[in-house]
Amino acid sequence: MSKYWSKLTKSLTPYVPGEQPKDKKYIKLNTNENPYPPSPKVLEAIRNAVNEDLKLYPDPNGDELKKVIADYHGISVNQVFVGNGSDEILSFAFATFFDSSEKVLFPDITYSFYPVYANFYNLWYKEIPLEEDFSLPLDKFNIPNGGIILANPNAPTSKYVSLDDLELLIKNNLEKVVILDEAYIDFGGESAIKLINKYPNLLVIHTLSKSRSLAGLRVGLAMGNQELIEGLNRVKNSFNSYTLDRLALAGAIAAYKDKEYFEKTRKKVMETRERTKKEMRALGFNVLDSMTNFIFASHPKVNGEKIFLSLKERGILVRYFNKPKIDNYIRISIGTDKEMDSLIKNLKEIII
Ligand SMILES: *Cc1c(COP(=O)(O)O)cnc(C)c1O
Repeated sequence: MSKYWSKLTKSLTPYVPGEQPKDKKYIKLNTNENPYPPSPKVLEAIRNAVNEDLKLYPDPNGDELKKVIADYHGISVNQVFVGNGSDEILSFAFATFFDSSEKVLFPDITYSFYPVYANFYNLWYKEIPLEEDFSLPLDKFNIPNGGIILANPNAPTSKYVSLDDLELLIKNNLEKVVILDEAYIDFGGESAIKLINKYPNLLVIHTLSKSRSLAGLRVGLAMGNQELIEGLNRVKNSFNSYTLDRLALAGAIAAYKDKEYFEKTRKKVMETRERTKKEMRALGFNVLDSMTNFIFASHPKVNGEKIFLSLKERGILVRYFNKPKIDNYIRISIGTDKEMDSLIKNLKEIII
């Protein structure tokens, strides 16, 4: 605390991201980064963008990128918003769509940035408890609210809700915005983008950080009804006009154009996930059915924190949340086959 801080600053409880340690080389399975590099075409596009034009501001609207994304998803340019990572877009979305008069709803176990944003903008919120098996009790969201935000698939549980079930929730909540954070949708789920023309209250958020191997570039996007997108633009342009730099724009455009590489790497991650799941189950782990690039698991004999600490000692970083209901679980990002072999070998030694 400092006397120079504003009341707002003093009141904040910031989000704590997963470690990015520098003390030694770890097998890093803790922040759901993609184990494969970005497409070579992305790297080439970024290299080509390193030129004298960097003296000029980037396009504040990211029109070329929006066009590529709109074509990719079969929607129109004015249904797309781009931003500096989906975290930034989530923050803008809380400011754009939620008022302090009514409670925003999200699950008690979900992406821990949601309550952080709600507090930042001084919003009321209600955390809806997940079922015992971490499934989403959709009917419990059918109450008066100031908006709903869900990660689908959910993090850190890796569980996915079908589009039919979600459609019902969106349809029942037409007076308020429903935000679907689809950070992991490319690892087996079906996106709700196809519903944005049908429901003016639906905003779908995607990121290039996970399935397109670009966590370091900071690019996210939101898709929805034109009026929702216009609202996001109002907020963004009241904050910072140039959220995406020239290199990020060039790289993101190339990423969407290289569909072949995207398909290849996401399939590989899913294959490795299924194999790892099987091997962990054979070791007695309770592994949830994942539709993401990570696995959420517990073991009946050794507690989650102990597994986390033992793995860390052995040079493997996974994520552990010291939080009620999930404090016996570990979240493991899917790495390369070789990295997962090493994980399994070490888990075997830890649980005997
Ligand atoms: C990783 C993640 C994000 C953040 O993505 P960025 O685009 O890197 O900011 C948002 N939501 C969920 C659920 C995530 O897991």
